[in-house]
Amino acid sequence: MILTLPTSHPAQRSTLKANLSLTQLCTHLQLQEAKQVHALMIKTSQISDSYSASRLAEFYAVSDNGNLEYAENLVGYMEEPYTFAWNTLIRGHLKRNSTQTAISLYAQMLCKDVEPDCYTFTLVLKACTGLSQADAGKQFHCQIIKRGLEDGVFIRNKLIHVYAVSGSMGDAQKVFDGSPEWDIVTWNSLLEGYAENGYTESLHQLFDSMPCRDVVSWNTMIGYHVNVGEFVEAMEVFRRMQHEGKQPDKVTLVSVLTAIAHLGALAQGKWIHAYIRKQRIGLDENLGSALVNMYSKCGCLEGATLAFNETKRKSLDTWNALLGGLAANGRSSEAIYLFSRMENSKVGPNAITFSCLLNACSHGGLVEDGLAYFSKMRVVYGIEPDIVHYGCVVDLLGRAGQFDKLEEIMRSMPMKPDAIMLKALLGACKIHKNFRMGEKAGLQLIELAPNDHGSYVLLSNMYAMANEWDHVHTLRKTMLDKGIMKPPGCSSIEVDGLVHEFIVGDISHYRRKEIYGMLDEMRGKLKVAGYEPDTEQVLLDIDNEEVKQSSLGHHSEKLAVAFGFISTTPGTPIRVIKNLRMCSDCHSALKLLSVIYNRHLIIRDSNRFHHFQEGSCSCRDYW
Ligand code: ZN
Ligand code: ZN
Repeated sequence: MILTLPTSHPAQRSTLKANLSLTQLCTHLQLQEAKQVHALMIKTSQISDSYSASRLAEFYAVSDNGNLEYAENLVGYMEEPYTFAWNTLIRGHLKRNSTQTAISLYAQMLCKDVEPDCYTFTLVLKACTGLSQADAGKQFHCQIIKRGLEDGVFIRNKLIHVYAVSGSMGDAQKVFDGSPEWDIVTWNSLLEGYAENGYTESLHQLFDSMPCRDVVSWNTMIGYHVNVGEFVEAMEVFRRMQHEGKQPDKVTLVSVLTAIAHLGALAQGKWIHAYIRKQRIGLDENLGSALVNMYSKCGCLEGATLAFNETKRKSLDTWNALLGGLAANGRSSEAIYLFSRMENSKVGPNAITFSCLLNACSHGGLVEDGLAYFSKMRVVYGIEPDIVHYGCVVDLLGRAGQFDKLEEIMRSMPMKPDAIMLKALLGACKIHKNFRMGEKAGLQLIELAPNDHGSYVLLSNMYAMANEWDHVHTLRKTMLDKGIMKPPGCSSIEVDGLVHEFIVGDISHYRRKEIYGMLDEMRGKLKVAGYEPDTEQVLLDIDNEEVKQSSLGHHSEKLAVAFGFISTTPGTPIRVIKNLRMCSDCHSALKLLSVIYNRHLIIRDSNRFHHFQEGSCSCRDYW
């Protein structure tokens, strides 16, 4: 029998045997064309042939142009529906993420006396993975044993996977141990289970004992380290992977870029970018966003913009990554311009977009713009502001000293203030010397975050400002009684592809002598330039004036900068990542140092970027 397939151009009409056409054209057909084939099959009674009908059902169920309902009807009306047709329906539901329905189809199959095969079980087990249901997995495991299918390597691998992702590592291990043979997927399934369930020791043991490792194995290890925040370790695994001559794929690169972003290791990030170009790896939305994010987090906006332009299909994440980078680096007007471009593109903004945008307005002191965006997000885009957005607005108004409006907004918001908002408010109260509001916010903050060292420091700054020394001492006593300590400041700097970490007063670096020599030189030059140490900051921690001054000299960011000065050529920008907020003494010292040594100093603290250049900072001394 011959079928004629209609195509968009009549001249291209091709004549094909029905069976062949249906198998070969499955994915390319349009729904309309498939329906015509369907009609023809009914007319010629070929529809009663289970094989042909199943192929058509497969198209309806699995193709992007398909229609799952048609597939279900087709299978429902088949005279003798056979396993392939049912598997097709399960695949269709899996593809549309309706995992529960996919599992229930299995029960329907049994009711209709259709015998499941190996493929059916790999599909339903995949559905169980999506649900993380060890119980459902166990039931299917029984059914598999009953049918004598448990030795199939696909089924075993899927079983290990189901048990592993649902946290039943004991069961996963049992299936693994009982396997007659192991392929790379078997090993990877168990490895992934250890990674997802945080079995660090077993994970490393298994990885080291694997007879061979493919890119998935390496990705599991790198991804694990990134997820638990061990970024240096993630990079070590990546280096080992390269050393063993394994090619990274896009998943590897996204993980590695995430680690680099956290470490602020720009040189390594640039290396990855060059690698991507050299290997002609297209920047899809995930990889492109990861690259933009890496550059943004390293404070290199030229790179971020370049990567953004190179990303062909930009997703919302890509736009947000650049917008967030511009905001954190104080490039407010560029952020606003980018947002206007975004509004004209096909990608609509979301809640994150607006928090970046409000952040940009706040860092740039653009009160009117900020308030306009705050109202626009709700009115035009229907996005209800959350605590983060309110926090940005409080910061915005606080910086501008508009406390009446600020109080009004805080009264009207539907949620309670969080610690971030109160800290922003306290910062504003300190700058504008608003003691009344500052004390209130400080007390609220301590109630909210009673073990956070920062809360006490901020409130005691308020009391010190108002000369209420009794209160300062009471607070200090409370801190001592509760054993609340300042977390150690830690700064890192990347030199020649290696990340060097410094904690406050660090003497462990192998070039410590030169570093401390440099610190002395810096202090001398600062003194000549008329700089006076700002000792107010450490008031709470130390009483002795001299100790205070030397302690300021050894803050971790200064150590990292000193190391940067001695280990890079003159004129090279110095990039430092700090875990805490920078103190005002380091801030004013670094401003002067940027002139004295004629360097661009870029410090990323826990909140934002400071670009010190020619004696001033991009944050305009407000952070
Ligand atoms: Zn400092
Ligand atoms: Zn600054």
